[in-house]
Amino acid sequence: KDFTTDQEVRWCPGCGDYVILATVRGFLAELGLRRENLMFVSGIGCSSRFPYYLEAYGIHSIHGRAPAIATGLAVTRPDLSVWVVTGDGDALSIGGNHLVHALRRNVNMTILLFNNRIYGLTKGQYSPTSEEGKVTKSTPMGSVDHPFNTLSIALGAEATFAARALDSDRAGLSEVLRAAAEHRGTSFVEILQDCPIFNDGSFDALRRDNAAAHLVPLHHGQPIRFGTDNEFAVVRNGFGLEVVPTDTVAESDIIVHDAHTDNPEYAYALSRLSDQGLDHVVTGIFRSVTRPTYDDGVRAQIATARERKPVDQDSLQSLLTGPETWTVS
Ligand code: SF4
Repeated sequence: KDFTTDQEVRWCPGCGDYVILATVRGFLAELGLRRENLMFVSGIGCSSRFPYYLEAYGIHSIHGRAPAIATGLAVTRPDLSVWVVTGDGDALSIGGNHLVHALRRNVNMTILLFNNRIYGLTKGQYSPTSEEGKVTKSTPMGSVDHPFNTLSIALGAEATFAARALDSDRAGLSEVLRAAAEHRGTSFVEILQDCPIFNDGSFDALRRDNAAAHLVPLHHGQPIRFGTDNEFAVVRNGFGLEVVPTDTVAESDIIVHDAHTDNPEYAYALSRLSDQGLDHVVTGIFRSVTRPTYDDGVRAQIATARERKPVDQDSLQSLLTGPETWTVS
């Protein structure tokens, strides 16, 4: 079963969403997940049409509110695998509040944030991740906003699982999704996604021949080196990290990636290597640590409350029906 539906897919030709959909369909089948145990919740935007195109349960919900709806589902239906599909506008503008609280609470869900750095559905306005100076229909003289660094937001909220992948990198995306699905708590995955209609070529530097010079792939337990011949390496610099030519540093100075470091500062420093430009875009799993989940905590409290305070049926009945005689004055 590959979770294909008979729904007509209504994304523009060449949209990166197609590749992500194909990868997710294939990956879910590989994991042996059943459609009756899967729930995809989306907000509003091009990416949020995703639930229509999977043979599973889904809610195309309210702008920016998918994490709140998914939280309710995760608490009340622990038998479900709950997924949120959102975009940079949906999650980081109107929904910024809901996103960070889901992350800090560590609700048991997987959030896929398709970042195309533009509002596609409304035809090309700048988004919270658009670069400074970007000319769009709503910024004809160039954006004066400083954009969010998506991974920095997630790690600042102490996400227990945070990762980034490219839409066109099927193997890398599948690997990240597999780990995200297995993680207990909120898994946050940013997927850099092409919008060829309103932001064409925005990630071209990561796809061309010299992509190796820009992509910094993370592998747990391995030194962080990249480039065609591993000619670049990541080392400590004060409180942060920096990229240097490999032949200018000792092997022992190169950072060995540890996704399980409890302190989020290290993963945060990694996220700062990818700023507005595409010079060094870190991909893979930044952080994967264990912390109690919100939904487990709520369910445990409900169980305790039931045990300690059995409901008095007479009192409950009187609350439900009210006094037998009503006095009208
Ligand atoms: Fe994809 Fe952009 Fe078209 Fe939306 S507007 S469907 S993001 S190509």
